[in-house]
Amino acid sequence: MQHIIDRFISYVTIDTESDASSETTPSTAKQWDLANKLVEELKAIGMQDVTIDKKAYIMATLPSNVLHEVPTIGFISHFDTTPDFTGFNVKPQIVPNYDGKDIVLNAEQNIILSPNYFKDLLLYKGQTLITTDGTTLLGADDKAGITEIITAMEFLIKNPEIKHGKIRVGFTPDEEIGRGAHHFDVEKFGAEWAYTMDGSQIGELEYENFNAAGAKIIFKGKSVHPGYAKGKMINSMLIANDFISELPSDETPETTKGYEGFFHVHHLTGSIEETVLELIIRDHNKKKFEKRKELIEKITRKINKKFAKQFGADIVTAEIKDQYYNMKEKVTPVKHIVDIAEKAMREIGIKPLIKPIRGGTDGSQLSYKGLPCPNIFAGGHNFHGKYEYVPVESMQKAVEVIVKIAELTAIGDYVKTEETAKNKK
Ligand SMILES: [Zn+2]
Repeated sequence: MQHIIDRFISYVTIDTESDASSETTPSTAKQWDLANKLVEELKAIGMQDVTIDKKAYIMATLPSNVLHEVPTIGFISHFDTTPDFTGFNVKPQIVPNYDGKDIVLNAEQNIILSPNYFKDLLLYKGQTLITTDGTTLLGADDKAGITEIITAMEFLIKNPEIKHGKIRVGFTPDEEIGRGAHHFDVEKFGAEWAYTMDGSQIGELEYENFNAAGAKIIFKGKSVHPGYAKGKMINSMLIANDFISELPSDETPETTKGYEGFFHVHHLTGSIEETVLELIIRDHNKKKFEKRKELIEKITRKINKKFAKQFGADIVTAEIKDQYYNMKEKVTPVKHIVDIAEKAMREIGIKPLIKPIRGGTDGSQLSYKGLPCPNIFAGGHNFHGKYEYVPVESMQKAVEVIVKIAELTAIGDYVKTEETAKNKK
């Protein structure tokens, strides 16, 4: 257990916070500090073809140790941490044999990690937790994933009696600012399918995510002295307000869960002359997703019609841009890649928790780039903040899942190389 703890701590104590305002890749130079270390470590454990490109994308190979043909699979994680909370000077605390009570993260500032609020903690009674000291995030998202992948590769190298096909490993920068998949060279990676090790609770297995679009809606107004405005003034802020009222009030993030989609108004600025409204549209179902976009157009037309005579031109313009799509569409035709992961979990005594993601993952972008890529738990909880923690036992189980997937893929039940290739086209 100490080995995996030491490895994890050696990663999280290196600051790799990404920065959405930067235009370079990686978005912050400090991400190189961990990237270079990972390259050395991959070489040291005996991985082959270890490469890092100019944008800090790392790839490595564990060659097949069987004679028959086995599909090449991959495991992927990201080494940046979110800019939402500081990742500078992380001081991990180890809580052995967790007793199910409050954990004092920081006595001085009275920061407590309590099962009264974070009920998931009680799942891990008796286990070893790694927490923060209450002043930073932990970075288990996704350095737990990196720890697990490297530890699993090391295990397979040291135990050659376990048979597996060719395995590719990929570590990316800038996932937290939505760019992890942008410069990922799927062709160079050369796997038939892969898994991101970037989920949360032990057992999580995800292959459905939202279809996503963003809309920017601009309202034009006419400013006239308010004392003489009757029949003349058009107040763009009030029109924007009408627009929002036309959206279904029970389809917002705060009123939906599971497979329920939503409209989320997240930005509104205005004056009489011009108001800008920004919202995002989310739905797992492609048809409903398209319907939602149509509703935006419909409301736009309705308002324009109402003011056509008075304004003499369109008063509202809506610009809608698709952001990402549900990976289910790309994964369902090769559903065996989910089945293998599920079987792997069951064989080592983990109950799979298969549920839709209410967001996107790098895997959804990769799936549309031709690399079907479900998401597997990395074990951490409370990502992106000071209450982040990870049970060491969950990381160990994730290592076992990776090893078992490698093993199952080589057995042959799932060797559907041709079929997979056909479906990708
Ligand atoms: Zn992550």
